[in-house]
Amino acid sequence: MRFARFKHGGRIGYGVLQDEVLEEISSTPFLPWEETGVTYDLADVHLLAPCVPSKVIGIALNYRDHVEEMGKPIPEYPMFFYKPSTSVVGPGGTVVKPPGCKQLDYEGELAVVIGSVAKSVSLGRHEEVILGYTCGVDATARDLQALDGQWGRAKGFDTSAPLGPWIETELDPSNLQIVTKLNGETKQSSTTSKMVFGISALVTFVSAYVTLLPGDVILTGTPSGIGPMEPDDDVSVEIEGIGELKVSVADSRGPRR
Ligand code: MG
Repeated sequence: MRFARFKHGGRIGYGVLQDEVLEEISSTPFLPWEETGVTYDLADVHLLAPCVPSKVIGIALNYRDHVEEMGKPIPEYPMFFYKPSTSVVGPGGTVVKPPGCKQLDYEGELAVVIGSVAKSVSLGRHEEVILGYTCGVDATARDLQALDGQWGRAKGFDTSAPLGPWIETELDPSNLQIVTKLNGETKQSSTTSKMVFGISALVTFVSAYVTLLPGDVILTGTPSGIGPMEPDDDVSVEIEGIGELKVSVADSRGPRR
């Protein structure tokens, strides 16, 4: 099943997407819901980020090919950082290069969407707390990351967490093709099978320290091929079995077009 969050006229709602038709549901996918019978053509609605997380948790250095390109050792345990709720933008949104940033990098990532309160989840029981998966970008101010030493500003700035286009609930995340394109040119192409720590291990590790709430997101790390994006660039992340998330880039003075 695919859940999308959308805006139509002045209203915001959630729906179940089948082909190009979105059927509105009575609640959110995180609560009991019913079909309402109200349908929209996908082309007639504005898709929003498919969930409203209280926090986005990013995993560092979680693809073997990316660890290699960064010249780092394979981590012994998952290292995670935070992106605040205000970092989220939806499909078709804009990543705004933050003030003082000279190198803004794209990182295409598989995003886990939590479905129910998750605390100290046992290994192998992750499916009980996961609603589904979507595509994400972990936009990173690379120079500020190095300058600051900690990542609050470099990975948590407004618009640094594009998510979408929808949540796919029926998906085995263990071996999915993930492709990031910059202005239509493939820059990252890998599979989720190259993760150092799989989805179950990540949910178990993170939830041992941090309670995950419905709608929270874990960005599961990026494959090799990261690189800079500039204002007016278009970035897309396509993940097998989910779809494609497209965003554009602007500088902090706003879009140029
Ligand atoms: Mg990342």
